[in-house]
Amino acid sequence: MRTQIVAGNWKMNKNQDETENLLSELSAKLPDSHATVIVAPTFVNLVTSKNALHSSTIKVAAQNMHFAENGAYTGEISSDMLLNIGIDIVILGHSERRSLFGEDDELLAKKVKTAIEKQMTVIFCFGEELEERKSDNHFSVVESQLKNAMFGLDEKSWQHIVLAYEPVWAIGTGETATPEQAQEMHAFIRNTISEAYNPTLANDVSILYGGSVKPNNAAEIFSKPDVDGGLIGGASLKADDFVEIIKAI
Ligand code: PEP
Repeated sequence: MRTQIVAGNWKMNKNQDETENLLSELSAKLPDSHATVIVAPTFVNLVTSKNALHSSTIKVAAQNMHFAENGAYTGEISSDMLLNIGIDIVILGHSERRSLFGEDDELLAKKVKTAIEKQMTVIFCFGEELEERKSDNHFSVVESQLKNAMFGLDEKSWQHIVLAYEPVWAIGTGETATPEQAQEMHAFIRNTISEAYNPTLANDVSILYGGSVKPNNAAEIFSKPDVDGGLIGGASLKADDFVEIIKAI
């Protein structure tokens, strides 16, 4: 059975004090939910976040990591470093990593492989750009992103994979895919995985939607049968908004 998840990607926001304040407000207001709730603060605030949430059900994820175990990679963070501070969930392939930092499918395949070897859970992001949707190439783009970065994994590894379909044109823009567009793509993704592996595996993978999910549109998007929750950017930075989104699932 797949799980429902609401994850907040804080990106490069919130200093240490702000991180503590947001987490304490979030913990106080956290509704009872069957969904797994995850927050992904910046690297420098991961330890603070783990400490702040030690008695909470909210899990903490990293926003990125390097594929190597250690070595001459100035400015980078390894899986072992994350695991050493108790972080075993990592977001990989976010569109900002792809577009601003040149991360491509080949590099992401290496990062995913390392994370899986280290028994981490990967929230793997992918999705088409506006031009690709306008030219009706969104399905082929999404299919190739999955094939190139993910389909080298063996079946067992998929127990540690969460997918996050994030159409780039909807991220931080206020423009959201309609619930129907989200469902159509999520069903396509599940079918693509089913063909590459098998229907049971495809049915068990959680597929989150990301892209301007807000309190006023979350319930409708989450109501779609192949949408298993959301990866939330801007709205995860305000406790009240994030809580409303959690309640919507
Ligand atoms: C994201 O960055 O993953 C995201 C979905 O951002 P936003 O919710 O702000 O569109």
